[in-house]
Amino acid sequence: MARRKSALRIVYPEEQRYECRDCPARCCKTWGIPVAQEVAHVILSDEELRGRLVGRAPGVLASGTLPMIERDRQLQCVLLDDDHLCALHKRLGHEALPSACQAYPFGFLEDEGGRTLTLLSRHCPSIRDNYGHPVGPLVRDKLSQAGGALPLAARMGLRSGRTLPVRAYLAVAEVWKELLREEGPVPGILKAYEFTDAFDECLLREVARGTDPEPRQLQKLLDEARARLGTPRVRHRRRPIWQARIFYAHFLGGLSYPTRVLTEYAVARPTVGQRIGAWGNKLAWMLHVGTVDLLHVPGRVAPGKIDRVPTFLAGEQRELVVDYLCEVIDRRQPFTKMTYLTRALVNLGLSVALVSRFARASALGHGHAEVTQGDVAEAVGVADLLMTHRREGERNLVLDNLQLVLMSDPRLLPRFLASEA
Ligand code: SF4
Repeated sequence: MARRKSALRIVYPEEQRYECRDCPARCCKTWGIPVAQEVAHVILSDEELRGRLVGRAPGVLASGTLPMIERDRQLQCVLLDDDHLCALHKRLGHEALPSACQAYPFGFLEDEGGRTLTLLSRHCPSIRDNYGHPVGPLVRDKLSQAGGALPLAARMGLRSGRTLPVRAYLAVAEVWKELLREEGPVPGILKAYEFTDAFDECLLREVARGTDPEPRQLQKLLDEARARLGTPRVRHRRRPIWQARIFYAHFLGGLSYPTRVLTEYAVARPTVGQRIGAWGNKLAWMLHVGTVDLLHVPGRVAPGKIDRVPTFLAGEQRELVVDYLCEVIDRRQPFTKMTYLTRALVNLGLSVALVSRFARASALGHGHAEVTQGDVAEAVGVADLLMTHRREGERNLVLDNLQLVLMSDPRLLPRFLASEA
């Protein structure tokens, strides 16, 4: 996807602060860090760095990802030293780093007005806890290190098969934000889904195929669709349905040890014990048997006991989650690839499910009687890492299939989210 390299105006959250300190190098762990061929060549040309490329490392590097080794039950970049500093940075300076490392935790996207929006990863503790210096003076350099800003999709689809231009699909997304603020995360997502389908029907009736609605007509259709909405009935259920368990087994199971160290960019081949352990994690999340060692959560937690931690999405912590969802819409992240609007909405629903389940697991691991602000902040960081800051072009079959299933049967999404409501 062609990125825009320079920007007249960069928009960033003015109150946001950032400083890379007091952190055990979170961004050098857990996820696959893309590396360009030129950087791989620099690493291979340096004797000290090349010496670190043991086992499968040269092949992983050649495939375009920094190889990872296991340390303290986590994967970390082979170039990370024990002092939590990067050997490549120490030897050749910041400019030698892969662009993802130089730019992190910043990302950029071009909005509908041609402005550049700054995206900040909440998985970085400095961004999550808002400490350090104002981000403003950094954004221009970070934009160039990131290689430019991703463009918005020219059109997004509706379930009827019609597509909308940028101004129209963003107007629909503005209504999603209003509904999230009014109703809270779960009923807000469900109402937004209903609204998007109602808008689709109004559009079919009033606007000829192949034509886009004029601004005034668009507003009338949005108002009409809103007027049709009922009150979503969210029936809480204690245990997640199967599709939700598969989702948690895939994403939260993937963050459980040893599954989290068994990736295609790990230097070591998995041992038999690790393979068995990974199956154990899957079963624990699917069948609620046994316990797991979940990333960023102390001790071991029993997935079967998470349901005993009270849900929080309608309580005191609700605004934290609503703010996050509105931030994702404001930073236009669901709209960089042409797809169905309902798919983008399903993705937001999956983020809500992930935030809720992780935060409840975190409360359980910390021995809290209920979910705290700290549990939610950590859970938002994890959801941000897994759901919104994905590598460009990265495919995930489990996620893709689940999105399609949830999109094709509107009765399923309420049931999927019911254990978190
Ligand atoms: S996660 Fe943030 S604070 Fe931690 S090392 Fe990376 S950039 Fe620095």
